[in-house]
Parts: sequence; structure tokens; C-alpha cells
Amino acid sequence: MPATIRWATRATVLAVLSLACDRRPEDTPRNFILISLDTLRADHLGAWGYPEGTSPHLDRLARRGTQLPRCIAQSSSTLPSHRSMFRSRIASLSGDSFPMLAELLREEGWENVAFTGGGNVAGELGFARGFERYREDDGGLARTVPDFVRWLGEGMREPFFAFLHSYDVHLPYDPPRPYDRRFDRDYEGSIVGAATRDLCREIRGLDRRDEPGDSGDPTGRPELTERDRAHLVALYDGEIRHADARIGELIAHLQSRDLLDRTVVVAMSDHGEEFWDHGTVLHSHTVYQELVHVPLVFRIPGSPGRLVNETVRNLEIAPTILDLAGLAPAPSHQGMSLRELGGSGSPAPLSAVSEMRRWKSIVAYPWKLLVGGPTGGRSLHDLQSDPGETRNREPEHSELADDLQRLLDDLVSGEEVPELSEGLSPELEERLRALGYVD
Ligand SMILES: [Zn+2]
Repeated sequence: MPATIRWATRATVLAVLSLACDRRPEDTPRNFILISLDTLRADHLGAWGYPEGTSPHLDRLARRGTQLPRCIAQSSSTLPSHRSMFRSRIASLSGDSFPMLAELLREEGWENVAFTGGGNVAGELGFARGFERYREDDGGLARTVPDFVRWLGEGMREPFFAFLHSYDVHLPYDPPRPYDRRFDRDYEGSIVGAATRDLCREIRGLDRRDEPGDSGDPTGRPELTERDRAHLVALYDGEIRHADARIGELIAHLQSRDLLDRTVVVAMSDHGEEFWDHGTVLHSHTVYQELVHVPLVFRIPGSPGRLVNETVRNLEIAPTILDLAGLAPAPSHQGMSLRELGGSGSPAPLSAVSEMRRWKSIVAYPWKLLVGGPTGGRSLHDLQSDPGETRNREPEHSELADDLQRLLDDLVSGEEVPELSEGLSPELEERLRALGYVD
């Protein structure tokens, strides 16, 4: 094992020790709200260093909670990433035979409700397993938050587990006023929020590719000026600011009902979004950082704000929730409770694996090895000095690359991780079309 990886192991154990917090009093119900902000890349949030003011409420949540600024998603597409997270299984090893988080909580008496955007987290894809109620609605957080608040007022039974999922930050980048112009007030070009779905699919070549999984035919794509590109990003940022405002309303409501004293709030994302970082747009195509570096925050009652500056994975979410609930992880879980990591003799995660189609990657900070892709080659990057993954260091560090390749091969299956499931209902196909996933 290379020295860098051994070092990362020790550092992780020491850092995550600080996550340990008091056990809950036996008589206090422990509720959980898991918020999945689909398509939210970590580096567009203030608490992750973005200077534009996109996320005051999420920033506050991060400050008061445990912020994990180096979290890696296990895939760059909605379906495999959420399935991996709920099963705490690496994406290519997260088949239907493994239990979902909601099933494990339900067995122990939790009331489970979900308010989702459907599509690639639709109930028919297996995500409704373990939920008493699993709602699919394309109204976004503007509808989800009031509806969830109504459920809290009318139908709530504690302890509960609520999964709130939204496509507010997802294509089309069409935030409501005033967020549509908030980050680019004087734009006078031709980009219109409502048309960004078709525009971005055209830029990616998704409207005419021959083979799914590639970035498409590079010829004949629409040419955007730097100004147009900046506006597209400003619209995405506007969506983040809008979603953030709705999260702020949710937190304020929980506070007004004194629920925050006995409710763990987890905010996460399933993957990021590319804006020409590696030549194209959208997600579900590579495993570069813009697509797998995601936000993760645990707000735990009675636990002060902490920054845990080590690599963790979305695999840790389910075991950590179970641990905070006083429950054991499932034997099939590959992730670890962030509290368990602080215990004596517990192994720490050595590395974070991500998979998408032919791509596989492994992060053992600061190093990241990417394997596969359209050319089948591999590249090694130093995320500390080159967070944009622009320089391949493999020629100078081929031994380290070999070590990481062996680790990666041990952790994943040889199967590709597809973006979509087969045999979808016509209703689900229609929803996926609206989100830009199918023609
Ligand atoms: Zn997604």
C-alpha cells in the first residue's frame, strides 16, 4: 500500500473522531430528514468556497452542523447514485437484493414518508420500498416544502424518516423570478431558461448520438460565446439560490415547532453538473470532480458545528443515520457510520470510488485515478494542486497509479453502471423526457 494511502487512513480516523456526539436520551424520538438536492455540485455553495452568495441557508446549516467538504458520490447519475446511497453499496454492487435504508428504519418502527421529484427516483424503480407514503411531484421545493410542513402538522407520527428530493437545481435551468436574473442582471443574449433543456442536450450531442454513453458527436454543436456560457451558469446558480430559500423556510418551520431539537437534518446531492470543465455540459457521462464532488451536511441536535476535512462517501449516509437512531448497520452495508469511525480499532474508508458507464475512479486524497472512459485509458490527478483534473501525473507516478488501480479493481465489479433502467412505464418515460434524459 502506498504511503499516501496509509497516511490518509490515519488522518481520517483522527479527524472523524470529532464527529462523535452524545447518545440520544432513550426517551427522545430521533427523527431524520434527508434532503437530496439533485445535481448540486459542491463548489457552487458558499460554505464550499463559492463567492457568489448562492446558499446562505445551506451555509448556515453547514456551519451549525457537521460539514463534510470532501464528500464523493458513487456515480454521476441520479438512479445509480441514489440506489448506492440508500443501500450503502458501491454503485456496480447495489442490486435489488440489498435492503433500502427506509426498509431498515421501518422494521424498527420509524414512519417513513418521501416527497420526491419522481423521474430517476420514481417509486417504480424500487425507491418506494419501506415508505408508507412515497409522493412523486414535479413542482419542486416550492410545493414539496409546504406539503411536507402540512404532513408535519396533520399526519406526523414520531419517530419519522422523511426523504425530500428535488430537481430544482436540475435542467432546465429555469429559476423563478427574481432568481432568474439574480446572478446576471444585464444579460441581453439569446439564452432563455425554459429553452436550456434542448440547448444543453444539443451541446452534449444527446439529440443525435449513435452510442449511449459518449459525449456525442463533437461536430455541429451550437456555439456559445463566453457571455452565453456565463449566463447558463448564472441560471444554474439562480436555481441553487431559489432551492436554498425553500430550505431556509423548511428549517425555520422546524425551528418554530421545536422539531430541530429531536430531528437530524441531512443535506446532500447525488452528483454535480458539468459546465465545460472537461469539454461539455450536464451529468451522467464522466466521474470528474465536477460530477462526483457533492455537498454533505449532518445537523445533529446537541452536536456543535464541525468541519471534517477528510474524504467521505455518500455510502456513509445510511449507516450514520442508523447509528444516530441507535440501530446497527445492515450486514450488506459497505459504508461506515461517521460516528463508528471514531471508535477504537474501526477501520476508516481508504478511498472513494465512483462509477458511470465505462468510467471508474478512486480518490485517495490528494490522488485520484480515473480509468476507462471512451478511450479506455487511465489518468492520475493531484486534487490538491490541480482540483480541475487538467494534468495527468500518471507518467511520473506510475507505481502509485498501479496501486490505486489494484485498490479500485478490488472494490468495484467489472460491470458498467448504466444511467437508466429498462422497461419504464410510459408515465415515467414522459417525466424523464421533461428532465432531458430521453429523446
Ligand atoms: Zn441526479
